[in-house]
Amino acid sequence: MGKPVDILALKAGVLEDFAAHAARTRDSRTRLYAPGATERVHQCPICGADSADSVLRLIVYGAAYHQCPECSHCYVLDRPTKTALEQFYASDAYYAAAYTDIRAAETRVRQVAVPKAEWMVEQFERLYGRKPQSILDVGAGGGHFVHACKQMGLEARGIELSAASRDFCRSHFGFDLDSVNFTEAWHAFQGVDVVTFWGVIEHVPDPLDLLRAAARLLEGRDGLVVAEVPRWESLSTAVQTAFPDFVVRHLDPLGHIHCFTDSSIATAFELAGFAPAAAWYFGMDAYELTVQLATLLGENRVVGTLGPHIPVLQCAADQGRLSDEIVLAGRPAAIL
Ligand SMILES: [Zn+2]
Repeated sequence: MGKPVDILALKAGVLEDFAAHAARTRDSRTRLYAPGATERVHQCPICGADSADSVLRLIVYGAAYHQCPECSHCYVLDRPTKTALEQFYASDAYYAAAYTDIRAAETRVRQVAVPKAEWMVEQFERLYGRKPQSILDVGAGGGHFVHACKQMGLEARGIELSAASRDFCRSHFGFDLDSVNFTEAWHAFQGVDVVTFWGVIEHVPDPLDLLRAAARLLEGRDGLVVAEVPRWESLSTAVQTAFPDFVVRHLDPLGHIHCFTDSSIATAFELAGFAPAAAWYFGMDAYELTVQLATLLGENRVVGTLGPHIPVLQCAADQGRLSDEIVLAGRPAAIL
């Protein structure tokens, strides 16, 4: 549990003008979810249960998050078409900016990517009694995690569809990321020990497609899959339910068309052919609460005043299993 992060340094650019950022986010998502621009999801994307039986939980910018009564997975019921989403990720420079901000790059490597790489190595070693040799990071963003793995002496490659992110990686870290569809091109990466998805599978229409491709790649090997996903049962969900007009992360329905429960991510692993082997709980719930209070009161001072207390509040959220992120690691098992 827990991940110590100087969250205010990480999001310096966002805090400079949170209200304007929220307004921009609200506008673009409301347009994306305009009636007629979406398509209905007919089955739970994880367990396949009929979506007609799902329960409405929250509406953010016109996007309705529903919960599956079978596996408890939460997902946007009427979502933008696959083409619309692909176009967005391929071209939206503003979205990529969060991950390619030069100021935050070193902080992101040191405080985000390195701890994740160390955790991944630790889990692999615990299962197999040796360190992994090669890593494939799917949805690598600006390449921070791949860079951290390389620094640790691991062979590491990354796949990234955003051209802006690949350019950043080349110019900032000096290596290239692959631009391929992993579900079709997975066999080009034979021999890797670990496949990672850091904040990736909640963005795609069918998360199981990506996990199943990883299962085929790792089949019969001492392998590990690692996926970080947002958690529905979290303090951030409660805070954003209270302030749905100021959502810029977590239940932002542009990126996160899924929000997992522990049950639904474990179900996804089992169905794809992975047995859960380790879980890590951490999040930005206390940060979310702080920023929303500052916005509600119109007082930036709130951020400075509450900021130093964020770590102790977040620690309580993590220990109470109310954190807004989970990283689940799994080993290859029989495909169901
Ligand atoms: Zn389900």
